[in-house]
Amino acid sequence: MPTPLRPDTVLVTAGRKPAENHGFVNPPIYHASTVLFDTVDAMLERRPKYVYGRRGTPTTEALETALTEIEGAAGTVLAPSGLAAISIALMSCLNAGDHLLVADSVYQPTRHFCDTVLIRLGIEVEYYDPLIGAGIDALMRPNTGAVFTESPGSQTFEMQDIDAIAAAAHAAGAVVLMDNTWATALFYRPLDHGVDLSIQAGTKYISGHSDIMLGTVSANERTWKALTDTHGATGMCVGPDDIYLAQRGLRTLSVRLDRHMRSGLEIARWLETRPEVNRVLHPALPGDPGHKLWQRDFSGASGLFGVILEPAPLDAVKAMLDGLDLFGLGYSWGGYESLAIWADPRSYRTATRWEAPGPLLRFHIGLEDPADLIADLEAGFARLAAAVG
Ligand SMILES: *Cc1c(COP(=O)(O)O)cnc(C)c1O
Repeated sequence: MPTPLRPDTVLVTAGRKPAENHGFVNPPIYHASTVLFDTVDAMLERRPKYVYGRRGTPTTEALETALTEIEGAAGTVLAPSGLAAISIALMSCLNAGDHLLVADSVYQPTRHFCDTVLIRLGIEVEYYDPLIGAGIDALMRPNTGAVFTESPGSQTFEMQDIDAIAAAAHAAGAVVLMDNTWATALFYRPLDHGVDLSIQAGTKYISGHSDIMLGTVSANERTWKALTDTHGATGMCVGPDDIYLAQRGLRTLSVRLDRHMRSGLEIARWLETRPEVNRVLHPALPGDPGHKLWQRDFSGASGLFGVILEPAPLDAVKAMLDGLDLFGLGYSWGGYESLAIWADPRSYRTATRWEAPGPLLRFHIGLEDPADLIADLEAGFARLAAAVG
């Protein structure tokens, strides 16, 4: 066998042990709390590999092992949502009195966690321009414990220079975290670029079917012990059926993402030709300001991107979106179905101002035929135009 195996092969093989499971291809689902010990001595010495449901089962181990291999990590923990993964990752590397730097383009609930829980625990939270790159050096303080990144940014899709940020953060002794939900570890491996804690909302592409909530954090050697200690101390665990579905999703991640990418780019390019569109925010498009970084660092793109419309009243945008047939109006993304939302980054940014001539929409391109999706959007633009008058 060639070593190391290529990513598509790893997605198929990682975390599976058929020989230990009577030959069955997939791992068993253990519904478990109590684990029985043979003797008091075995209990006192915690002799068996598994001691209690919350602390891990063969089901959790199968997914954790798979993700550890895919991410090139020292270890992985599972959390009951992407946001829970973000919160334990941050709690694992910060102490009272620490200073935390967070990208201004971060997923809004991440911001809420920092502004409420972390502030209450005595952590100073500072937001920075996601385009800062090596300039983050100037923001580092002796007590900077961590730098949180997300690339591309939620809703606005700015690409961050993770290598430059990680170098500056490490020079100052800080831990680097990245929310890598957009690319998944298939298209970008954060730990290879200096990130210490790589986070994914498994709810999105890993699941791929809009039917579970799950978060994952993969750590390098430097951060693994603190992460697994915090994970254990906070009682984080995930139901076995959801873990099973996530590991099932992993097996088809590559083929799904490839289609999301191709259909997404086809529709993004079509949108660029529309008179109603001011700009498409998609780092895989050559005209995008983040394209060079995307090209340097990423091996693919997912199906999520933004569109700035030409100026239009909100009522016209509502007429466009409300009448869509194939695009659902809903949060989350990464499933097989297409989604659209209206977004307003002006409402929460603090370090930078979001300036756009018109309304911002976000599309997730699912696995439908792109020609049908384009027809749906075309009819939407006709409603928009009629409402603008
Ligand atoms: C959805 C999302 C999350 C949170 O995931 P949940 O499972 O919904 O908690 C985190 N980061 C990004 C970028 C997301 O899009």
